[in-house]
Amino acid sequence: MKSVTLLGATGSIGSQTIELIEEYKHDFQLEAISAYSRIDDVKDILKSHNIHMIAMPSKYEETIKAIAPHISFHALEDDGLLKLSEREDDLFINALVGGVGLKPTLHALNHDKDVLLANKESLVIGGPLIKDALKNTTAKLIPIDSEHAALKACLKGHHLKDVERMVITASGGSLRDVALSELKNVSKADVLKHPNWSMGAKITVDSATMMNKVFEVIEAHYLFDVSYDKIEAILHKESIVHAMIQYTDGNVLSHMGPADMKIPILSAMQQEEIKRYHSVFDLTTLSSLHFEPLDQQRYPLFGLGLEVARQNGMHVVTLNAANEVAVDLFLKDIIPFIEIETVIVKCLDAFDNHEPITLQNVLDHDARVRTFAYNLFN
Ligand code: NAD
Ligand code: MG
Repeated sequence: MKSVTLLGATGSIGSQTIELIEEYKHDFQLEAISAYSRIDDVKDILKSHNIHMIAMPSKYEETIKAIAPHISFHALEDDGLLKLSEREDDLFINALVGGVGLKPTLHALNHDKDVLLANKESLVIGGPLIKDALKNTTAKLIPIDSEHAALKACLKGHHLKDVERMVITASGGSLRDVALSELKNVSKADVLKHPNWSMGAKITVDSATMMNKVFEVIEAHYLFDVSYDKIEAILHKESIVHAMIQYTDGNVLSHMGPADMKIPILSAMQQEEIKRYHSVFDLTTLSSLHFEPLDQQRYPLFGLGLEVARQNGMHVVTLNAANEVAVDLFLKDIIPFIEIETVIVKCLDAFDNHEPITLQNVLDHDARVRTFAYNLFN
């Protein structure tokens, strides 16, 4: 029986993780969670699981204590996420959304704990810091992202030095078939209707802008220590093949499977022993699979984002913070979809790339960019 700490328990990845814990109740036990809102969902979790520790905004403390008097409550405002990140549970899963995930990822690694990482923004804004932390610990980063779990599977039994290139696939997101001239008119509902995956709102918007694929290229760069030149993203509308690796001897290994995040989540959670998972996958029902280059005109943020990533400086923090604010403004109906790019470009123009990368600098820079971006609309 493995005990589990789960950050972001109420999110899309968080709730799928909990469903797996419930399905494999003899293997996993949920002990500690964090949540930002959705108090009713939290109450349901507390009813079904014997939770010992929780981190939430302080305004929920009374409510939580009323239903679970013995629980150890930590306010998010007082670094409650860090309290969870230093627990001794067997599995530590970071399913937070956004740059807020960086500190807990680093904190867990600094406490020699493996991190099962869905929170890709940790690596986007803190890649060099996480790389340094990994040098001083035996702890590992285990990806919870379909493309990276696929890359990891394709790498099994092979050497990194033999990799010619890594390819991750992109579905194209919810707007892939909308005419370019119509993008200015798309509604929030249009953007949130992903054709293949059911995910949280932010990553669904990031998929429509292709920012998610920028983040995933960065994620692959740090997870596998592979240069940006060797990582490619291509369009694959069916989301069946998640990644491929071409080796220097000409062989190409690809990884395929249904668009079901529970598969990479369970792969990350199971360690020595493979658990049976009931999923139906029948190749004969797929009439064809399509692969195309990404259309840079449709996804201008893809090229821009990669250029920023390759600069290896503070600009990637600007990119992430500006994107988080722009997506938030879009989800609050303050800006239209096409203005997400405008916000990001304005922020990149306004901030410098050359600050040294330390945790404090990253967090301060992130806060400054957010303030700047929100002020554009005040
Ligand atoms: P989500 O929005 O559904 O859930 C996010 C969780 O983070 C929630 O529990 C929320 O309460 C918490 N949270 C949000 N803001 C917070 C804050 N300021 N402080 C503390 N907690 C906060 O997101 P998701 O779709 O589950 O995605 C989580 C992460 O996994 C993201 O980094 C995403 O890119 C990645 N990911 C998601 C999927 C997917 O299918 N959803 C697939 C691959 C990777
Ligand atoms: Mg992915």
